[in-house]
Amino acid sequence: MVVLNDEQRMLKENVDKWLAAHLTPVINDHEAAQSFPFEVLGELAQFGYLGGRIPEADGGFDLPFVTWGMLLESAGYCWGSLRTILNITNGTIQKLSAQGTEDQKDRFLQPLLRNEIRTCTGLTEPNVGSNVRGIEARADRKGDHYVINGAKLWITNGINADICLMVARTFSEDSDGALSTFIVEKDMPGFSARKVEKMTLRCTGTAELSFDNVRVPVENRLGPEGTALSGTLKGLNTARVNIAMGAVGAAQSALDLSVDYAKTRKQFGKPIGSFQLVQKHIVDMTVRVKAARALAYTAAARLDAGEEAREDCSIAKLYASQAAFEVADMALQVHGGLGYAVGYPIERIFRDTRGGTIPEGTSEIQTLIAGREILGLSAIT
Ligand SMILES: Cc1cc2nc3c(=O)[nH]c(=O)nc-3n(C[C@H](O)[C@H](O)[C@H](O)COP(=O)(O)OP(=O)(O)OC[C@H]3O[C@@H](n4cnc5c(N)ncnc54)[C@H](O)[C@@H]3O)c2cc1C
Repeated sequence: MVVLNDEQRMLKENVDKWLAAHLTPVINDHEAAQSFPFEVLGELAQFGYLGGRIPEADGGFDLPFVTWGMLLESAGYCWGSLRTILNITNGTIQKLSAQGTEDQKDRFLQPLLRNEIRTCTGLTEPNVGSNVRGIEARADRKGDHYVINGAKLWITNGINADICLMVARTFSEDSDGALSTFIVEKDMPGFSARKVEKMTLRCTGTAELSFDNVRVPVENRLGPEGTALSGTLKGLNTARVNIAMGAVGAAQSALDLSVDYAKTRKQFGKPIGSFQLVQKHIVDMTVRVKAARALAYTAAARLDAGEEAREDCSIAKLYASQAAFEVADMALQVHGGLGYAVGYPIERIFRDTRGGTIPEGTSEIQTLIAGREILGLSAIT
């Protein structure tokens, strides 16, 4: 089990205090309005929340993955929508830092680090989810630009985003349908975003995006033509640990609320926590939180050691996202009717933890990736 050092523990304490003082009090208002307080990202930047994983030369913090994961655990403890927006924002920041030209870094990376613009990532489409290789959106090269057509679905932050890093099948002299990434700007003619209502993570601005003959200059292609698939799959691998870390935080929050409630709520003249069946719930929750945390930090430590750690990343995401929802379910049971109350955190945590088992590869896909790594035999064509 990875043990945090003094510096990391101090950072976590400061972050947790800041989030509890500044963000926790406004979550209910934002949940009711389905809005997100983007201004807090600028203030969270002081802790490393914007650009934590990119080199200092690009304006980042160069944090080890374990420290970064710890920050996401704290974000997940506070609010699922916060963890999600941070994940998406930093996904773009990392891709721009790794693959962007100097011009792209000036126009998009630096404004993102200064919290001046919003971003989203467009992979999933109406006909394409788990099978990323099947992407149908297409980009046809016409001289100094590409013409992009297609649709993207379930895109987090899509209704707020100024830019979208979208992946399309590319057709040009050099590419016969290989995948490339493009930076589409929201005011480019032919681009539009429509809000999608959903049960989980309600403040994350989910959208369906349409690309109707959008002319995107060659300068807005991210990385060499036809190379998006390997980069995307690599990005998904580490993004899985981000989700696992956030799930650990959310589960810990549900557990803490349940322990407090079990000690203070009285029935039959005793705290409900003195009943053996309630204790069983609390212990089952604790086991899941500790196991999920151990898996998530092990994966993070392996990434820090320079390993690809595909088995560890997939297992951490698989277990932590499911465990968090199970913990939230038990927390709701421990809280009785209060657990269902809108405005009390358990109901929100219950909905939000349900959002972890689908994105960045479903639980089934994580199982197949781990199975492939363990057996050396692939069940995915
Ligand atoms: C909260 C949330 C945020 C999201 N944010 C984004 C985002 O920002 N950008 C983006 O591009 N996408 C985003 N997505 C979309 C997400 O990545 C997809 O929903 C996910 O990849 C699954 O695709 P799908 O929904 O089309 O399901 P499908 O791929 O159609 O899968 C349906 C079911 O079939 C199962 N299945 C599929 N293939 C296999 C197989 N080979 N073996 C066994 N079972 C299989 C799946 O596990 C699932 O249970 C988000 C989704 C959610 C829920």
